[in-house]
Amino acid sequence: MNAHTKHYAGDGSHTDSYYAASANPSPERAALTGHQDIDVCIVGAGYSGLSTGLHLVEKGYKVAIIEGARVGWGASGRNGGQIVNGLNASLQTIRKRYGQDTATFVAGLVQEGGEIIRERIKTYDINCDLKEKNIFTGLTKAHMKELEERQALWKTYGIDNQEMLDKDQLRAHINSDLYEGGLIDHSGGHMHPLNLALGEAAAFEKLGGTIYEMSRVTSVDTDAAKPVVTTDGGTLTCKTLVLCGNAYLGHVVPKLTPRVMPVSTQVMATEPLGEELAKSLLPDDACVEDIRYILDYYRLSGDKRMLFGGGTVYGGSDPTDIKAKLKANMDKVFPQLKNVKIDYAWSGNFALSFSRVPQMGRIGNNTYFAHGYSGHGVTGSHTFGRILAEAIDGDLTRFDVFENVPWYPFPGGRMFRVPYSVVGSWWYGLRDKLGV
Ligand SMILES: Cc1cc2nc3c(=O)[nH]c(=O)nc-3n(C[C@H](O)[C@H](O)[C@H](O)COP(=O)(O)OP(=O)(O)OC[C@H]3O[C@@H](n4cnc5c(N)ncnc54)[C@H](O)[C@@H]3O)c2cc1C
Repeated sequence: MNAHTKHYAGDGSHTDSYYAASANPSPERAALTGHQDIDVCIVGAGYSGLSTGLHLVEKGYKVAIIEGARVGWGASGRNGGQIVNGLNASLQTIRKRYGQDTATFVAGLVQEGGEIIRERIKTYDINCDLKEKNIFTGLTKAHMKELEERQALWKTYGIDNQEMLDKDQLRAHINSDLYEGGLIDHSGGHMHPLNLALGEAAAFEKLGGTIYEMSRVTSVDTDAAKPVVTTDGGTLTCKTLVLCGNAYLGHVVPKLTPRVMPVSTQVMATEPLGEELAKSLLPDDACVEDIRYILDYYRLSGDKRMLFGGGTVYGGSDPTDIKAKLKANMDKVFPQLKNVKIDYAWSGNFALSFSRVPQMGRIGNNTYFAHGYSGHGVTGSHTFGRILAEAIDGDLTRFDVFENVPWYPFPGGRMFRVPYSVVGSWWYGLRDKLGV
């Protein structure tokens, strides 16, 4: 087992998170055995795999998803739950690097992922504590300028459901002294991420899809006339293979390894705060993230816990004391929570791309992949799933745009990319501290 799959427990159980403890009932699926053959095989039952699979079965395809542990075991079942419109790389950056046409194309789809999620929740009656609105906060004047520019640029693309909040106005949404102000996006939101994944899996199966759990893919042959996937228990051939293992795929597909780097981030859940205290902290129950490079992100759960996330470890290892690390950050935002108990703390890996733009493409014979949402993948993975399904169904229009966005390997190769990136992160972290 390589470093990226180090967390697979013997029984495939989820990390010890608040989400696992409050998950909706879900069946355990059998592992892949013997030899199977199918139209489309997808590796990974996170949002990328489930979104692709669900779009395809809706179109009538025969699809199997192979998952190394359980549905939603990866980032999709343990993330901050924040439905944030946009990619990690801003529209400003995309326009500067790849030109106006690409920026216009991306602007046209930044709200699509959130719409897909809401449509899934409604159509398939998924119970996952959906709430509306997200707020980006700024801690400095420079951050406020960045937020103003972001709002102005989004407006030029016709996206007009964001509103700047000065220090006093922000107080009505976040009861903290830390911020200069913020930008509220009325079309953002948040939800219970594992329950969303479990609901999407149930919808996929209801429409005829098959999920194999506890079936870690050990090798793929993408050059065979029909791609072949091998697990410890069996093999599967397919007309089309889709690789959605993201940060946890590790080195199973060497062609994909240099494209992304696993990075860990952590979340903790307080004890339930009670209606009154919860409402005094986040009166309209929006989710929040600040715009620093190494950011805090937080929100209230359905049962009124504070779910507080942050931290970044390049290479994907876990900090020794997650609670201590995050509690210090939470106390700065909400000193009111100094004495609350922390019930859960966990870590998970996302896949970072060097440009922070997610990637999709093709390798070998009829093998597609999507990954590298760089920490903002709840919406992006849902959009990418739809675009992959369109491509497999013969419409490559949107897929081609993303496939042609240039990507760059991390400097330093497999051995040194982590130390190099730590230097980069130290630099950005220092800028955060200096407020520049
Ligand atoms: C702690 C944390 C907080 C985050 N918070 C947010 C947030 O609030 N908002 C946001 O937009 N984004 C957030 N993200 C990022 C977001 O969760 C991810 O971008 C998104 O879930 C990626 O989905 P995915 O399906 O591509 O990958 P994953 O959800 O990681 O799924 C990949 C799946 O593939 C399986 N797999 C991998 N290799 C194999 C193999 N060899 N064989 C079989 N199966 C395999 C894994 O077991 C896993 O289940 C966060 C990420 C983390 C870790």
